[in-house]
Amino acid sequence: MKTLRNFTKIKLETSDISFDALSSENTIGALRQISQTLQGSHALTKSQTAADGIRNRCLHILILLLTCHAVFGEIKNGYEKHIRASKESLNILRERLEDANMLPAQRRKIQLTIATLVDHVTYFDLTEALLIQFKTIAPELYAEIDTITDRRGRPVSVYVKFVPVNGTDVQAEGTTYMDQSDYDIDTYQSEYGEFTVSVKIWIVPRALLVLAHEMGHIKYQVPHAARYFEFYKKHYDNTSTASSIGHDFDDPSGKSAIHFERRFQKNYTDFLKISIGKVQNPLVVLARLKKNWSKNTEVL
Ligand SMILES: [Zn+2]
Repeated sequence: MKTLRNFTKIKLETSDISFDALSSENTIGALRQISQTLQGSHALTKSQTAADGIRNRCLHILILLLTCHAVFGEIKNGYEKHIRASKESLNILRERLEDANMLPAQRRKIQLTIATLVDHVTYFDLTEALLIQFKTIAPELYAEIDTITDRRGRPVSVYVKFVPVNGTDVQAEGTTYMDQSDYDIDTYQSEYGEFTVSVKIWIVPRALLVLAHEMGHIKYQVPHAARYFEFYKKHYDNTSTASSIGHDFDDPSGKSAIHFERRFQKNYTDFLKISIGKVQNPLVVLARLKKNWSKNTEVL
């Protein structure tokens, strides 16, 4: 897959977080476990069947509404896939651990699954919290990306993940992944599908500023997809360093990124004047969330 990457100029400062990468296979495995657990309670009576018919129609309407909602682009939490199942799995697996007769090997397996699920829900919650913080500090910047459309007016969703330091293939505090559709030069796509952009931000003290920078890249690139891909091919190649990509002297995307950074810094200064407390360090928030989700499920 062709991939455009834009990097912040800000360099790494801290690297004190370890991370057990959350694999979708593990999450799906946990989902299967839930499914197996619930299968035993699915015997239906006739009245249940009728009630379920009504419920299913409601469900269809709900799914339709959700589908309709999905056509509108917006900023989204990159960890949202399977998040509800992960939270439900955690509760179910914790209950299963209360079985005193469980074999040690089985207990160990469940504890490892729980550790993976704790990672998923922790990083989901952290991303939620940081996106809310960003929106509170810089509502206008947030709205500009939340409602962004491509050159033909089609909504584009921006999926954001806050990830551990060094948790990306490319060693940069912020990375925006975009690709051009093979069928339409104006259409962006990422690992989340067509009309999406994927952003990964390292969990560092200035993570919100890094996010503002990446949003600046997106602000220019999404409405100018075809033009920017041409520019990109002419200006960057395999010899370009990570920090220079997106930031040639005449790169409009890089200029937009710097402009967004400055606007965010101004918003942040204004926010501190009226705010009672300081914005919490993302690393502190992460540690607190992890502790809460890990409660009673220490992996031995
Ligand atoms: Zn950049």
